[in-house]
Amino acid sequence: MNKGKIVKIYDVYNRAISGGGIGIWEWNIEENYVFLSENCYRFIKYTNEKFNNFYECIDKFVLMQDRDRAIEELKLFTISNIDVYTSEVRILTKEGKEKWVLIKGKYSKNKKIISGSITDLTIKKQLENKIEKLNYYDLITGLPNRNVLIEKLKKIIKKCKNEKSKAAVICVDIDNFNLINDAFGCEYGVALLKIFSQVLSSLKNNIDVFSISGSKFVLILNQISNYCEIEEVCKNILSYCDKPFRLIDNQVYISVSIGVACIPENSLNENDIYRYADLAMQQSKIKGNKMITFFDKSIYNKYLRKITIEQELRHAIKNEELYIVYQPQADMIKHKIIGFEALLRWENRKLGNISPAEFIPIAEQSGAIVEIGEWVINSVCDKILELSKANYKFESVAINISPVQLRNKNFLNTLENIIHKKNILPSMIEIEITEGTIIDLKKSNIEIFNKIIEKGFKIAIDDFGTGYSSLNYLTILPFNTLKIDKSFIDGIEKEKNMAVISCILNLSKALNYKVIAEGVETELQMNKLLEIGSSIIQGYYFSKPIDEKEMENLLGEF
Ligand code: C2E
Ligand code: MG
Ligand code: MG
Repeated sequence: MNKGKIVKIYDVYNRAISGGGIGIWEWNIEENYVFLSENCYRFIKYTNEKFNNFYECIDKFVLMQDRDRAIEELKLFTISNIDVYTSEVRILTKEGKEKWVLIKGKYSKNKKIISGSITDLTIKKQLENKIEKLNYYDLITGLPNRNVLIEKLKKIIKKCKNEKSKAAVICVDIDNFNLINDAFGCEYGVALLKIFSQVLSSLKNNIDVFSISGSKFVLILNQISNYCEIEEVCKNILSYCDKPFRLIDNQVYISVSIGVACIPENSLNENDIYRYADLAMQQSKIKGNKMITFFDKSIYNKYLRKITIEQELRHAIKNEELYIVYQPQADMIKHKIIGFEALLRWENRKLGNISPAEFIPIAEQSGAIVEIGEWVINSVCDKILELSKANYKFESVAINISPVQLRNKNFLNTLENIIHKKNILPSMIEIEITEGTIIDLKKSNIEIFNKIIEKGFKIAIDDFGTGYSSLNYLTILPFNTLKIDKSFIDGIEKEKNMAVISCILNLSKALNYKVIAEGVETELQMNKLLEIGSSIIQGYYFSKPIDEKEMENLLGEF
């Protein structure tokens, strides 16, 4: 290697080191001299100073909290066989700024010299801190999150065990939080979470508050002597919600659902106790707002059944556990069966017969209803084809369709493909939706009804009169049939019920809708309906839902 080349390499090192923000240091132990490069001085904002050894540097620059450790680490390095000295410490600049640095060094033992580098770690440490914060704190509220909650619960449970004390876990969720985001915008949702978290944090001294996810919060009430204390805290939260929250330029009213689980009564496991408070909160949501629910075993059993149903439903089609029964719809004046409603049944190997009223909502929540609904359409179409081939006459078969299915982009395509494949007229299928479904679908999705009608299918409104929806949709949307809900028929002997039924009949006549009275069970109900000119019924009085074989027998009779 010639000299010219060596000089060039030194130049390269110098440029790289100063450009890369690395400082160089060397401690000559025999000559009691420490060299610090320009970059080192730049980090610490000091001008050249003289040091006899590196301990003096540590003493001068390293933050007091890290100083003893830094000295220990250097001592250990000098007396041991460790190859490289590394120490991550905070230093204090002349301007009083804290910086994180990584000090590295290597011993040339024969020369009694330690040489090394100092790298600025401040940005890396700031990022690490942020990541750490994300792991343990909620970004919006700044409150500790679920990870911290579980750790805290572990400690509290231990304390409760040792001291035979009690604590409560309170789960609070803002109802319909998404509506606030949808109606006003996300910034209002964020503002609400911040204010609400402050409300919870200011409730009482012995409460720890955690932000879990979305609009869910958990409070731990420590060292309680009786249940009244828990109730008092919960009622306080509810009473805060009686007043409007000021969000940016608006006033917003909210309601919350609250669930409580108690330590040690309900569990001594940190994950379970949190889950139980959450389940109790969900129970409050089902019951309606402003509810406080204390966890008990029945809540857990309901949850367990729901989970089992959800799991078992996944295999219901494959295991051939689903089948359909058909309830006739008959015109009692013309003595004619005009059609059927297809009603799904499920007989599970573990749980036995489960009512659709129980499993359909679960299938809707899990999304399984889309596949199950397709299976129903396929099976009904098979039956229609079979009956048509055998020359049985009826107008249509009604299939219950959930809003989840209607929201699915492929719904209409799937429906059309099935009827085309089986060569069935679309008018043989009546899509049954509840009033709730119309409310459930947002404006942009309502178009689906027009498309269904355009393709030649029929639409019936199920359980009419129970959905609290505006009558306006009857004039805007294209329906064929109104099914008067069983609850009106049940009380038909009452004048008021009779008045509502007459009203629905007149309305339907004017709008050209067919009317079916649902759940007609007695002769009295039948006669009352005939009195006011309502002749089409579906109910036990004419027939319970029947299986496919009985269906053919019945069609043969009429
Ligand atoms: P729905 O559509 O209103 O069905 C009518 C329900 O009333 C059926 O209950 C039927 O068996 C019952 N019913 C009919 N006549 C009488 C009567 O005279 N007296 C009494 N007490 N009950 C009568 P089911 O089969 O238990 O169905 C309950 C609900 O489950 C249905 O209410 C419907 O909303 C839903 N459902 C059933 N099958 C399906 C399906 O394939 N898909 C969807 N999405 N929902 C379905
Ligand atoms: Mg129905
Ligand atoms: Mg109904």
